[in-house]
Order: sequence, then structure tokens, then C-alpha cells
Amino acid sequence: MARTAIISDIHANYHALSAVIEDVRAMQCTDLVCLGDVVGYNAYPAECLDYVRELNCPVVKGNHDEEVVTPSNARMNPIARKAMDWTRSQLDEPRLRWLSRLQYQRIVRTDTGVSFSIVHSSLDHPKAWNYIINASDASNNFPRQFSHLCFHGHTHTPKVFVWDGQHAAEDDESLHPLYLSGFTEFQPLPDLKYFINVGSVGQPRDSDPRASYGIYDSDLNLVIIKRVEYDIAAAQEAIERAGLPEYLAERLEKGI
Ligand code: ZN
Repeated sequence: MARTAIISDIHANYHALSAVIEDVRAMQCTDLVCLGDVVGYNAYPAECLDYVRELNCPVVKGNHDEEVVTPSNARMNPIARKAMDWTRSQLDEPRLRWLSRLQYQRIVRTDTGVSFSIVHSSLDHPKAWNYIINASDASNNFPRQFSHLCFHGHTHTPKVFVWDGQHAAEDDESLHPLYLSGFTEFQPLPDLKYFINVGSVGQPRDSDPRASYGIYDSDLNLVIIKRVEYDIAAAQEAIERAGLPEYLAERLEKGI
């Protein structure tokens, strides 16, 4: 059996991460992968990093994971920058080294021999941190996607893009139930490629404040995206206690 949980954009939100991992266990997942941005924004960077490390799963690098190790001055808004500087002060050398060694993209092979790709932003220029928002953005990814399925994050918004060999399109149908009930599942068709954004564990931005993650069951050919309630108030209090910008606490309850 191969049932892989796909988590992304944890962003140092320990309360969201532990709620999601509890759900992953309840959903009887056998494997786990992490699509990066383990740190940044929220108040538990070291705790989340250690948690993910202990899970001993494939992890790819996100832009916050890179920025905390190699500061670049240009790429972040002032709030993200402030959180980033604070995050850096919370991480010791071994933790920074672990982040620095993460790969940008990986092929993951399940126990039953099915392979899929993982990347934080997109496969065409994984180090450029492009935001894949619409089908036109996604059309640049597919020529570099050699697997049936690729999972990504970065925009903090669940989305499914499909490719028929010539055109990319957004698959709204598959996500419609997610917005109604917080749960969706679909069976990928064999003759299409899928580029699937599983949303964010620690800072969702699609107006649903619940943590988001994905499951790929390769035996059943099933992709699931679901939302998980967590203790948002506790995550907000921790942000306040750490002296991080207030907006970072506000946005959690709004899901923006
Ligand atoms: Zn992120």
C-alpha cells in the first residue's frame, strides 16, 4: 500500500503542523513528503524544523528556507523580511545547514513503484520561485514535468492544473467540493499530466483559515485535498509573544 501525505508551506506554525500530522495518521497514510517553506512568518521555526526532520521524509527547499540561510535583500516585503530576520535569530548552525542542503526538486518513488515529482514552486525554474497562479503560468511547468503527477506549493492556495500534451488548463471541477466542505478527491486520468498545489499547512491564503494538505494514494489512483481545523488562537498568541508583526497573527484567522 502506498498512501502518501503531501504537506507544504508549514511556515513555523507548530499548532497547524501537529494538527495536520494527527490527521495524516488518522487517514492511514504510509508515507509523507514536504514541499518546503518549513520556516518563516510564524513563531516556531526550530520546533517545526525538528518535527519535519524527525519525520525523516523527502523534503524540497522553499524560498523562505533559502532566504533564511542566504539573505538576499530584494525579494521580500517588509513584514516577511522582519519575520525572516527573527527566524534567522532562532535557528542554530546545524538547523541552518540542514535547510541549506535541501534539494530544489525531487522524484519520489512509492513502495509500489509509482513515481511522482515534488517542487516548491515550479519545475521550469525551481530557483526562480515563480508563482503559478493561472493556466498560462502552469504551461511553462509541464514541458519539464516527466511524471504523471507533480505536487507543488508556494502560493498557499490549493489548485489543480492539467496538461493534455499541448495546453494547460485549471481544473476547477475537482476543487469545487473542497471549497464547500473542506474535502475533495479525484482520480487523475491516465492521458493527462497533473500539477497539483496542495495549499498551505501554516498560512492558508484562499480565505479558508484551516490548514490544507494533500494525499496521493497510488494504489487507488486517488488524490485527496483536505482542510484541518487547528488552534489558530494559540498560534496567534505565540506570534504576539515572539514580537512578530501583528499582521501575521491577523491573517491566520482570515486565511489570507
Ligand atoms: Zn510559502
